[in-house]
Amino acid sequence: MALTGMQIYKLLPKTNCKDCELPTCMAFAMQVAAKQKALTDCPHVSEESKSELSEASAPPMKLVKIGPEGGQFEIGQETVMFRHEEKFHRPCGIAVRIQAGLSDEDALAKVDKVNNSVFERVGQTLKVELCAVEVEGAKDPAGRAKLVAEKSKIPLILIGKDAGVMKAAAEAVKDKRPLIYRADASNIDSFAELASSLKLPLAVTGGSLEELSDLTSKAKDKGVEDILLSFDTEDLAKTLRWLTITRRAALKKNFRPFGYPSMVEVSAKDAEEESVVGAAYAAKYAGIVIVDNAEPWELIPIMVVVQNLYTDPQVPNTVEAKLYEVGNPGENSPVMFTTNFSLTYFSVESEVERSKVPAYICAVDTEGLGVLNAYAGDKISVEKVVKTLQEQKVAEKVKHRKLIIPGLLPIFRAEIEDTSEWKEVIIGPETAREIPAFLTGNWNK
Ligand code: SF4
Repeated sequence: MALTGMQIYKLLPKTNCKDCELPTCMAFAMQVAAKQKALTDCPHVSEESKSELSEASAPPMKLVKIGPEGGQFEIGQETVMFRHEEKFHRPCGIAVRIQAGLSDEDALAKVDKVNNSVFERVGQTLKVELCAVEVEGAKDPAGRAKLVAEKSKIPLILIGKDAGVMKAAAEAVKDKRPLIYRADASNIDSFAELASSLKLPLAVTGGSLEELSDLTSKAKDKGVEDILLSFDTEDLAKTLRWLTITRRAALKKNFRPFGYPSMVEVSAKDAEEESVVGAAYAAKYAGIVIVDNAEPWELIPIMVVVQNLYTDPQVPNTVEAKLYEVGNPGENSPVMFTTNFSLTYFSVESEVERSKVPAYICAVDTEGLGVLNAYAGDKISVEKVVKTLQEQKVAEKVKHRKLIIPGLLPIFRAEIEDTSEWKEVIIGPETAREIPAFLTGNWNK
């Protein structure tokens, strides 16, 4: 039975040291009781208390780590069904399949492509998190696993159902701590023994939810610590339903056999469908999605869905409010301001880059709101804009006194001219995508 906050509190050090990022031990105990924190988030709990509390206070979904120490991909320990209830903690990772039928040369070329699938969006790095190596069907399963492991800069998943093949491959790369995928009713005993003896994570799939529950319990009984629930994608609606049911059972009913993160191996008729379906699973609780293709146009839509879902809705997405230089600007370069909402700032910055006109962009602190919201919420004013320009010593950077303001704030023009040294205020475009035409067409004319 779950422990109450008070029962948990009695076993804590009661020093209120705040190392768990909560103000008091009581607050921490309440969050552990509500399954929003794990006991391990307190670094000072005694071993004795830990063993007393561990089972009852274990988070409803286990944290699973794939890969070697120092380069692990972590998934799980989610606490809510819906992002607005708190936040989602560990973003879904994309795994790209390295097919067994590829020649060694082609397999290495694909791994290289995966290694280089790194993209920037609104100041964050998006990348492929795992290489999923099909060892079954490869001429030399252990050799293929080793070849990919040596080239890959990211953790591995080993794909296969034959126990002998998987044993050879897993032993060959056990130091990389790959995920063994996939155990089912036909091989659960040997796969669970392998995962347990090598201390590797194991992905388990079942023909029904009842079977899946039996298989994860069996794997746990054999000593497997890190388990993933894996699903196929022959029926999109069914898979989404199972992803939702297992998550709900874990988080709302504390049903231990489903208390693990999930993964989906996507199968689709073409790359477009793979991208759409992969994004749907990523949006609905899959901790890992395995796809075939590694083209940026296919990966980026999935990554963007994940990025949007896994931002913390309670923390404004901001950049530092300061002066940014884009493209090595000089004393005659344009000066503009925008808000410090990440999406707004990076939209402006990328369009300035695209214009090839070096410029200064001053990000004004609006507590993470875009231009219109900031204006409506009284988070931006002429006074604040002028003060930020002064604090950032923008006037010392340029000879002119022209300031481009957002097209959504034309009302600021006269007051800025009247109250600051910026005597020529130019009303810029209303949307970022108009910036290149605006700068190349208007600046210095
Ligand atoms: Fe209390 Fe542990 Fe949190 Fe410190 S880290 S306040 S001891 S619960």
